[in-house]
Amino acid sequence: MEGLGDEINCCERKSFQVFFANVRCANQQDRNIASFFRLVKTLAYFESAKGANTDAEQNELRLLFEVPITMMGFGYLRDTATPYVLKFMTLGTFVPMMLYPMPVIGWFFRWPRRFVDGYERLWEDVAKGLNVLLDVDITRIGRPGDRACTDDSISINFLHPGQAMFKTDEHDATLYFDYLVLACPLENEVLRRFIEVRDDERALFDMIETFAYCMTTFNVDRDLEHSVNCVFPFDETRIGKPWAVVQMFPGQSRVVQFYARAPRDEMVTDAEMQDVVRASVKLAYQMGHEIAGWKSNGDPDPDRRAEYHTFDCWPYFQHVSSNDFGKFYAGLEALQGQNRTYYVGGATNFELIEPILEYAKALVDENFPRVS
Ligand SMILES: Cc1cc2nc3c(=O)[nH]c(=O)nc-3n(C[C@H](O)[C@H](O)[C@H](O)COP(=O)(O)OP(=O)(O)OC[C@H]3O[C@@H](n4cnc5c(N)ncnc54)[C@H](O)[C@@H]3O)c2cc1C
Repeated sequence: MEGLGDEINCCERKSFQVFFANVRCANQQDRNIASFFRLVKTLAYFESAKGANTDAEQNELRLLFEVPITMMGFGYLRDTATPYVLKFMTLGTFVPMMLYPMPVIGWFFRWPRRFVDGYERLWEDVAKGLNVLLDVDITRIGRPGDRACTDDSISINFLHPGQAMFKTDEHDATLYFDYLVLACPLENEVLRRFIEVRDDERALFDMIETFAYCMTTFNVDRDLEHSVNCVFPFDETRIGKPWAVVQMFPGQSRVVQFYARAPRDEMVTDAEMQDVVRASVKLAYQMGHEIAGWKSNGDPDPDRRAEYHTFDCWPYFQHVSSNDFGKFYAGLEALQGQNRTYYVGGATNFELIEPILEYAKALVDENFPRVS
């Protein structure tokens, strides 16, 4: 991290050393006795529920939560409703996160956990033996009571590809169901394309907000010194610039991910997205790395062949404000099952796979109990 000037100043945050050691795969120096005692102290704050007393303690505790929450796209701590933060930082996540860099003890705590064959393979395996239709584009869902719906069943119109010799055509089909479980973002922008959103649904879903979160990937010239790097401070000054640089598979692949929050959360322009890409390139150069096809000022380099690069910008983290929190989740529960429609997915619990699955499983167990 030396030589990066003000851009990367995480090392200056001494109080944060323990957690920082974790996220950047601690070296031997970080694994010393002093950091172990700081770790125990921080755990004690967390467990005591009394909170921290001194400014230093508060700072340490704040940073401890800021890395997973703010850096991973779940907003500033001052804005994010506390239940969301605690959904992410359960004790089951917190303890391995803190203990995995420790000598000996760390062998018993693995973090972060990854699917060795990739996440998609997991779902392919889950889908085996189930009647899952892939590659379909749902064009319309009709529900009883809709203006355009004439019968009492739920109809789903969709397009699916079919090959006719040398060309692939889209085929139209309709299936009929007793119940609908919507497993997609509950944003009007998504829903209005295929379903007649009712007034009570619209009133509820209008409370949902998202952040525009960007991931830019490049092939860098050599492995990063540390596989996970944070860029402080996580505040407005770094909006549009990466605050995390991650190499997922050091030694195997030099693809590096740069995570940044876009300059605004809706209607991000092409120029703003291009600026995020340029900021990522500049940061890579500041970290002492080169990216083929890109200059250190963030401009494409026409003299060199550009290497692998992706850019995606998601409406990320469906959530509601602290003020709307009670109203939204009570309203959602009241809405479940109305018009034979149920809702699962990121907005129903917290925008991570495990909470989403927990909620979906509980909903199915309660409303569609297994008939033996
Ligand atoms: C960059 C990134 C990294 C993440 N990392 C993690 C992580 O490490 N761990 C973790 O737990 N979570 C992670 N998440 C969060 C996690 O991916 C989401 O919370 C989760 O996928 C949301 O699930 P969902 O079912 O609500 O919606 P989605 O996964 O968005 O699924 C909705 C599906 O509906 C489909 N759809 C929408 N409209 C139509 C239509 N008309 N016809 C047909 N299909 C349609 C979409 O194509 C999509 O496949 C990450 C998210 C992002 C963006």
